[in-house]
Amino acid sequence: MNYESTRGQAPPVPSMEVIKAGLAPDGGLYVPERPVVLAPSALESLRGSAYQDLARTVLGMFLTDFSSSQLAACVEAAYAGDRFDTPVVVPVVPLEGGLHVMELWHGPTAAFKDMALQILPHLLTTSCRATSETAEIVILVATSGDTGKAALEGFRDVAGTRIVVFYPAGGVSQIQERQMVTQEGANVEVVGVRGNFDDAQAGVKAIFSDAALGAELARRGIRLSSANSINWGRLVPQVVYYLSSYLALRQAGQVAAGEAVNVVVPTGNFGNILAAYYAREMGVPVKTLVCAANANNVLTDFIRSGVYDRNRPFYQTISPSMDILVSSNLERLLYSLSGRDAAAVRGWMEQLSSCGRYQVDEGVRQRLQQLFWSDFASDEEARQEIRRTFACTGYLLDPHTAVGSVVYRKYLEASGDNRTPTLLAGTASPFKFARDVAEAVLPPETCQGRDEFQLMELLADRCGAPVPAGLQGLRDKPVRHGRTVEPAGMASLVRALLGL
Ligand SMILES: *Cc1c(COP(=O)(O)O)cnc(C)c1O
Repeated sequence: MNYESTRGQAPPVPSMEVIKAGLAPDGGLYVPERPVVLAPSALESLRGSAYQDLARTVLGMFLTDFSSSQLAACVEAAYAGDRFDTPVVVPVVPLEGGLHVMELWHGPTAAFKDMALQILPHLLTTSCRATSETAEIVILVATSGDTGKAALEGFRDVAGTRIVVFYPAGGVSQIQERQMVTQEGANVEVVGVRGNFDDAQAGVKAIFSDAALGAELARRGIRLSSANSINWGRLVPQVVYYLSSYLALRQAGQVAAGEAVNVVVPTGNFGNILAAYYAREMGVPVKTLVCAANANNVLTDFIRSGVYDRNRPFYQTISPSMDILVSSNLERLLYSLSGRDAAAVRGWMEQLSSCGRYQVDEGVRQRLQQLFWSDFASDEEARQEIRRTFACTGYLLDPHTAVGSVVYRKYLEASGDNRTPTLLAGTASPFKFARDVAEAVLPPETCQGRDEFQLMELLADRCGAPVPAGLQGLRDKPVRHGRTVEPAGMASLVRALLGL
């Protein structure tokens, strides 16, 4: 099976080329040229599979140019060792009523990005070897906080690769920043951008689409690639946990054969919820995909109105990984919902870049609203939700998952759909956002004058759960990266780093 670009002006290529390239040469995103489907009986027969086995099956259906032994090796390296702190990889924890949290944060950096970024470097290096690629791969990443660290951990010291991570300086939590600036590895660079995430992402996209730079790099045996969720190799591993979590509910008797579930996803770049859409397309019975936003609620407005309008204030919230006004992966959904109308997608994306706004046609809007529902939560609502959930259940939500929980409750109220079992994507460990979580559940005098590292310890005492291994000892690690740059200076910095 080949992959085609959502903009329709690049030749179809097999998945290894897709993973190597990241973005398609016409500026579009690669998608499978036809839906990948699993018959209901085949889905049922996967009940009880280990996560690793499921990953091999699902990846094998999408990445058809990989041999099964190549995929087995990638899956083994990512999910089978001790990189995740639980053998089930993604535990599904019942919370209240029919709500279950899929804990996607048991990897080395304590956020859900590890689910994909632990395997992407292996998919990429396997693709390079298999296609006799000799160029050095340079990964450029724009991060709103969690991707950067997860990509650094995934790629550190992977032979034949280098990685440069750009994050909004001051726009991520103290712990996230410390995780990145202390990163070890001989092939890593971490740079603070004096701007917000969208500035960083726009800067990286501009570097990718600079044809002259690309040619110059090619002459020097360097090839740029992306670890952002625009890369299909990031997206496809995320489909796996929707299957595994649905099957876990089946095994636990929480859903009957064929019975649908709802899925609630705290959303930023639209990667995670898009993976849920593909899982649904594969055959996981999903009734409604609930897209939860924070105050940067551009997706909520879009899902309600069919108008995408990024011309609005940008807010820094306590869920920084969702502080995004341009959700890149939405392009893949538009392509699918428009019946693969590349010309229409191209038109919308041109309008987005020229005036920051586009309106989809009536058919797309209707299909969107049949599948998706959306609302948003303010910081105050998220804080209250952390407090309420901890008081009622003893479970600590991180601020992103709390946004999902608030929006789920709004969905219940608006729809009355309270009988459908629901999976909530738990996207970060609460310890990763220790200040906001501590301020929600501990008395103010306890929090005052303490830094995030101390608050992490206090929270661990209070809830009786250990601080994840990747967050322990962070305070005392030496800072290895301190560079910052204006958004306009990103390209010249990359040139300098690569010796041009
Ligand atoms: C990245 C991230 C999100 C948003 O996920 P998308 O795939 O970008 O929509 C939500 N929560 C956390 C903790 C994240 O790291």
